[in-house]
Amino acid sequence: MPPSRVLSQRSLDRLVRQLTKRRRLAAAMSQSLFSEALEAQITADRSDLLDSDAPMSAASEMSYALAADACDRLLQIDRALRRIANGRYGNCEECGEAIAFRRLRALPTATSCFDCAGLTRLDEPEGVGAPGRAQL
Ligand SMILES: [Zn+2]
Repeated sequence: MPPSRVLSQRSLDRLVRQLTKRRRLAAAMSQSLFSEALEAQITADRSDLLDSDAPMSAASEMSYALAADACDRLLQIDRALRRIANGRYGNCEECGEAIAFRRLRALPTATSCFDCAGLTRLDEPEGVGAPGRAQL
């Protein structure tokens, strides 16, 4: 597959910086949330240490869910950085067309163009259930 056609080196550098920064944040966040979840679980478990079916505490459950989200973001960021490294970044994985820089700037982990993501070019996302809706 040819390297991305629309992105200048400068734009690419900018996106790499953005991705690297987001990666650091997501990594730190997932780590601290997992510790939080674990701590909440340990605290909650004291009362029923022998009951392995004891439900997870609400605090722990929420921290786990947030940590899982952060991990997911981390994976998406790593995928984007890998696509940059192998020259596939910036092209829609579905139709092969270039993804608009505007879209990549808002969502550097985007893997599909506006059309394939089911978004209209000028309007805000309408939440048609497109996978990986914009998370800024
Ligand atoms: Zn597409």
